[in-house]
Amino acid sequence: IQLNDGSNLSGLQVIADEKLENYEEISKLSTGAALEVWGTLVESQGRGQDFEVQSEQVLIRGTAPGEEYPLQKKGHTLEFLRDIAHLRPRTNTLGAVFRIRNTLSQAIHRFFQDRGFLYVHTPIITANDAEGAGEMFHVTSLDLEQLPKTKAGKVDYDQDFFGTDVSLTVSGQLGAEGFALAFTNVYTFGPTFRAENSNTARHLAEFWMIEPEMAFMDLQGMLVLTEEFLRELLKECLDRHEEDLAFLQKMYDQELISGLKHICDTPFETLTYTEAVKILENSGKSFEFPVEWGCDLQSEHERYLSEVHVGGPLNLIDYPKDIKAFYMRLNDDEKTVAAMDVLVPGVGEIIGGSQREERLDVLDERMDAHLKEELWWYRDLRRYGTVPHAGFGLGFERLVLYLTGMENIRDAIPFPRVPNNAAF
Ligand code: ATP
Ligand code: MN
Repeated sequence: IQLNDGSNLSGLQVIADEKLENYEEISKLSTGAALEVWGTLVESQGRGQDFEVQSEQVLIRGTAPGEEYPLQKKGHTLEFLRDIAHLRPRTNTLGAVFRIRNTLSQAIHRFFQDRGFLYVHTPIITANDAEGAGEMFHVTSLDLEQLPKTKAGKVDYDQDFFGTDVSLTVSGQLGAEGFALAFTNVYTFGPTFRAENSNTARHLAEFWMIEPEMAFMDLQGMLVLTEEFLRELLKECLDRHEEDLAFLQKMYDQELISGLKHICDTPFETLTYTEAVKILENSGKSFEFPVEWGCDLQSEHERYLSEVHVGGPLNLIDYPKDIKAFYMRLNDDEKTVAAMDVLVPGVGEIIGGSQREERLDVLDERMDAHLKEELWWYRDLRRYGTVPHAGFGLGFERLVLYLTGMENIRDAIPFPRVPNNAAF
């Protein structure tokens, strides 16, 4: 019997012989049954495993219906498995992915805790519609069938639970900044939500984000920290998941392990946005979206830069201010901001961050009246002991994709939320 409790890929071989009183029943079991086994762990006589259990008692706790069981031993496509998201954690592939996901989440906390960062839990419901990172999901306790209206015919949010219009957060950054000015180095690690209707292999409507925020930190310092951070996570996975990674490599990505090892000992390259645009313009490639200075880079551009031009992870910095958020620090050229994206082969952007604008007068230039009113407390942070500070957001599922060689972000999270699908 091949028995698996999920702790590793290969499970444990159990020898069940005729001496067992329920041998007859056991011999009729099929894939998917649940057993409790008592016996002795011995060195294996056979090949393929070091140990096995010589069973003395095998208790059948739950049977599975043979051919009707949706997970047969033959391989299933990842698409098929998404339709049985409640069963797919039992498969070799998703088992490996979720073990690695667990290790990564622990390693992330350890990285920051070892360096004295404070873990801060920023709110999930927010009244700031101005974070600007994406479309938001509204949260309300009003009766949608009978919405109260104002005289002007708009929804009357005064009567809503919070007395105002609120949404699910797209980022914990603004709150984390307040905490960084009290605790120096902090990080969030929590769910974020974006209602962008982009049905891509890189976007989820609900995803987890890690957002460190560091006082007395500039962009250059953050590049060093980010690299150290990603490398430590990689090493932890390589150390602890040899078997899982070898399996994923065999099934999905022939260069997975060598690619990860390569990154462990190659420094990341850094290019400015302006340099990157020149490289793209001179690449001789015809992109679907044409490139010129000032445009937002599309995933085809990001992938060209990291996969073809660099062949590894790449920091892209100093983006035009007009395509980046108001809180990013204006560079001395007054055209660009101290932004940073980390691009990796196969995935594209996994990190987006920046040095924050700590000068109130410069910040005010980039906020309109509405924003200033709504984010009065954020402006306060620049009035009371403002310091240079910087932070980034790492999309956890994109990191999982990168480290597992999976291609679709729906296979990097237990129960994906994407347009038209929240079934599980
Ligand atoms: P993209 O351009 O890829 O849509 P973004 O620039 O909108 O991402 P940021 O606002 O910079 O994303 O968010 C920080 C990080 O969060 C990104 O680098 C990415 O890793 C992750 N992320 C952003 N949107 C999503 C999403 N919808 N699903 C999963 N991860 C995401
Ligand atoms: Mn970004």
